[in-house]
Amino acid sequence: MSELERFRMYIRGEFVEATSTAVFESQNPYTGRPWALVPDGGTEDVDDAVRAARAALSGEWGSFTGFRRAALMRRLAALITENAEWLARLEVDDCGKLYREMIGQARSLAAWFDYFAGLADKIEGKQIPTPNPGYLVYTRREPVGVVAAITPWNSPLLLLAWKLAPALAAGCTVVAKPSEHAPVSTLAFAQLVHEAGFPAGVFNVVTGQSPETGAALVGHPGVDKVAFTGATSTGRAVARAAAGKLNPVTLELGGKSPQVVFPDADLQAAANGLVAGVFAATGQTCLAGSRLIVHESVHDELVRLVSDRAKRIKLGDPNDPETEMGPLANRPQYDKVVSMLRQAADEGACVVCGGVADPDLGGYFVQPTVLTGVAPQDTIAKEEVFGPVLVVHTFTDEDEAVALASDTPYGLAAGVWTKDVHRAHRMAARLRAGTVWVNCYRAVAPSVPFGGMGLSGI
Ligand code: NAD
Repeated sequence: MSELERFRMYIRGEFVEATSTAVFESQNPYTGRPWALVPDGGTEDVDDAVRAARAALSGEWGSFTGFRRAALMRRLAALITENAEWLARLEVDDCGKLYREMIGQARSLAAWFDYFAGLADKIEGKQIPTPNPGYLVYTRREPVGVVAAITPWNSPLLLLAWKLAPALAAGCTVVAKPSEHAPVSTLAFAQLVHEAGFPAGVFNVVTGQSPETGAALVGHPGVDKVAFTGATSTGRAVARAAAGKLNPVTLELGGKSPQVVFPDADLQAAANGLVAGVFAATGQTCLAGSRLIVHESVHDELVRLVSDRAKRIKLGDPNDPETEMGPLANRPQYDKVVSMLRQAADEGACVVCGGVADPDLGGYFVQPTVLTGVAPQDTIAKEEVFGPVLVVHTFTDEDEAVALASDTPYGLAAGVWTKDVHRAHRMAARLRAGTVWVNCYRAVAPSVPFGGMGLSGI
């Protein structure tokens, strides 16, 4: 136990153990061994963090102008840039993602704080004319209050930044609860918030091994808004708890995103976009382009291009710069992906490439997998795998492509590959998804909204 790295929760500007003093181990999914010890916070700790966040709202932070908030946010952005390597290494050890991917992501976090710092001093109300000359009517923008920010294990800091940066700009305070499977980077990030000089209680982090910790935060009477990213099933529970208090809630949930490839597309570019879209981060992204919907005339060629590349993807140590795909992030996720692949085989899917990796590799490895012969109603075509699995369907005309793409209760993202500009814009309008990329995939930016329809969230 003693050689494990120790991290503490961050409440009221202090680094603290859980009230119960209990801790839990965070596992490294590549070595399969515990590497860090984290406080196992519970209801009392949630209560303490929410009280700290409420006190900060009515304290020094509440009196800050947007200009002062912006200055602190810019200082935080600079600290993120300086410490990006450290943050990236922590996420690699906690989530098994590639260092070469995480270093880019860690550096990009600063852009969210810079961008929203630019908005913090531009929050304006309106002066509204009325029929009666004797009245002065105006609106003021007020912070929502205490925000509960709940994140999953796949990209803890990026998904935290998406919630925290706008909340700070608006003058809110935040209690973050990272996933029990990848809690460390959020605790480390709190050290940067502390160093940046934010007043005590503006940002707090509570960790806990049980879903009860997140549930206690969502249901806490002192929380004014819930910003949640995670599974659709958990999102439902979060929405129910928030509804009981009539709290606003944003939900970023699962996806089963289609990539539609027309015969006039640059097939090599589409193949690259498909490989990056579904195999990056070992397929563990909400926006993974996990369903290829390809015109029948180019099906064989495109599947060959994608599978040739997929077979060459090098699996291994996420810290090795040569590695192109790391393990799945934890044992339950590995078991889920393996069981879905078995079920797909039972339902008659044809494995063009991939499957469970050689156990000698260690870690929770699944190979980049391409499946054809999958019916739209098969489980593997319907349910989010959250792993490196691409299913292939064919179409003959645009209407059929739209029907296949829309045959899902999710609506997070979609890709369209075509050189026909009319068709590109038509498809962007017809596809029911929060984001539609044309001739690219997986590009996000602080200035561009991100969200889903249907079961992908609110
Ligand atoms: P999860 O729903 O199991 O857990 C997410 C977070 O919710 C964790 O911090 C967990 O501890 C907490 N939690 C669990 N039960 C809770 C409850 N009753 N009340 C409050 N909090 C609770 O999700 P996961 O397995 O960590 O992440 C994978 C899922 O996240 C996938 O479905 C993926 O698609 C989704 N995701 C969505 C987006 C997006 O932006 N749409 C981004 C990344 C991941």
